[in-house]
Amino acid sequence: AMRVAIVGAGHAGGRVAQHLRALGHRGPISLIGDEVHAPYERPALSKALLDGSLEAEALTLGPTEFWHADALDAAGIAHIRTRVGNLDADARRLSLADGRTIDFDRLVVATGGRPRRHGVPGASLDGVHVLRTIEDSLALRRVLGPGRRLVVIGGGVIGMEVAASAVSMGTEVSVIEAGTHIMARCLPPDVSLWLAGEHQARGVRQFMQARTNGIEPGRERALVVLGQDREGTGFRLDADAVLLSIGVDCTPDFLADSGIAGPDGIVVDARCRSTLHPWLYAAGDVACTPDPASGRNVRQETWRNAENQSRAVAEFLMGRIEPYRETPWMWTDQYGRNIQVIGVPQAGDVAVTRGAPADGPAAIMLLRGERLGACVLIDQGRERRHLEKLVAGGGTVDVGRLADPTVPLRELAR
Ligand code: FAD
Repeated sequence: AMRVAIVGAGHAGGRVAQHLRALGHRGPISLIGDEVHAPYERPALSKALLDGSLEAEALTLGPTEFWHADALDAAGIAHIRTRVGNLDADARRLSLADGRTIDFDRLVVATGGRPRRHGVPGASLDGVHVLRTIEDSLALRRVLGPGRRLVVIGGGVIGMEVAASAVSMGTEVSVIEAGTHIMARCLPPDVSLWLAGEHQARGVRQFMQARTNGIEPGRERALVVLGQDREGTGFRLDADAVLLSIGVDCTPDFLADSGIAGPDGIVVDARCRSTLHPWLYAAGDVACTPDPASGRNVRQETWRNAENQSRAVAEFLMGRIEPYRETPWMWTDQYGRNIQVIGVPQAGDVAVTRGAPADGPAAIMLLRGERLGACVLIDQGRERRHLEKLVAGGGTVDVGRLADPTVPLRELAR
């Protein structure tokens, strides 16, 4: 029987194991991950787990019984809690940090990403946090609250979600962002400006186009962050804690010298197989997958991609032929507002808007020529299906009808 080894027991890795069993795969499965927990979902790490409205057990990939030791035994799944140190591609053998080796016929790499720390002097001081794991979230939770000051370096999704959660816990928050807008990778400028205003209204100081020169031990507070604003004027921010949220590195250590993975993760084909080794599959944040819309390979760092690409990989291992396609979709929750993004906004997109986020629910539809390139929904999740059809379909849209709020979006998607 085919032996499958899965490296990374996070969202995607855990789901590959579950789907393989559900699809009737009979061979042994080794699921190797360096976290102590059963596989879990990460979105709440910056939201409900951070602010204390959820506890860690609630994040486990369901059904939770799947991960009980006797259930895993019965299913022939070895969940091995250690790091993978090396791959011998010729022998198809993994060397584990605990000294063991695992031989396999098919390998699935689902190692996610590691928060970046490089480029910021002082990043390894006590009190400087990153956020990827349950432990990271709980450690951050402990230092937030009334009277505490947090400096967030990097105004991307995770940075701004943490800012919102920290404010709701009574923390004073400052954000340092190098670019011109917060969350610029997933929001068009107008929506980003509106959201920045929501943060500002709650007292979040935002330094845009600003540089972080370093972090040092402080006198007033544990740390001081040294920066430079857009005019080049230096500033100092006292902080009890600093969050570094400047993106992730997706090159798995154990593949560093193999040529299989580069700075953009593992380049795979439409069947999620390494373009170098047909026995190696990748799923989740680490997989750099062909995107028919742009003709390039892209990585999607989203919950839904982890969810769906893992199922696709299990199906490919079981003989599926039809390629994997995923329309990018992500969401964020900040200050009680739900923002969903379909597709990837690009410079030059022309916005057609229904409603205004400042007043309530809104849809910002981004035209790319005559097609709908991407879309942002604010408190309008129920329209998602229709807009996703339009973005994924790639056909021309009737701009007049798109802009006309009396025409239901579901009719445009027909
Ligand atoms: P992971 O879930 O990170 O799993 C990778 C696992 O591999 C980890 O357990 C890691 O420790 C392990 N590993 C790595 N290297 C090795 C090794 N050499 N040996 C053994 N094990 C190893 N997405 C959304 O769509 N919406 C959201 O609101 C959202 N919020 C998020 C908030 C936070 C704070 C974070 C961190 C992510 C968020 N995401 C969100 C993104 C989403 O959680 C990820 O896209 C998803 O977790 C990717 O799954 P994965 O399996 O690829 O990686």
